[in-house]
Amino acid sequence: MRFVVIGGDAAGMSAASRARRSAPEMEITVLEQGEDVSYSA
Ligand SMILES: Cc1cc2nc3c(=O)[nH]c(=O)nc-3n(C[C@H](O)[C@H](O)[C@H](O)COP(=O)(O)OP(=O)(O)OC[C@H]3O[C@@H](n4cnc5c(N)ncnc54)[C@H](O)[C@@H]3O)c2cc1C
Repeated sequence: MRFVVIGGDAAGMSAASRARRSAPEMEITVLEQGEDVSYSA
């Protein structure tokens, strides 16, 4: 399965992180139009 997220701010990176935790083997791609993505230490 492939999971594509459009937008790498709070919502997008949360979705990608949750997907990675729940399905470690999943192919995950985040498309962000800006230069930076959001992270939460
Ligand atoms: C002035 C201001 C101050 C704020 N202060 C706080 C605060 O102190 N604390 C707090 O909790 N919240 C704060 N917020 C709210 C917080 O910024 C938002 O709730 C949060 O950023 C929402 O994140 P989001 O991922 O839902 O959407 P967005 O932040 O809108 O992120 C969308 C992302 O998608 C990308 N994108 C859009 N279209 C495309 C495309 N076609 N292709 C690729 N990428 C695309 C954008 O570049 C962006 O990175 C503040 C907001 C503002 C405006």
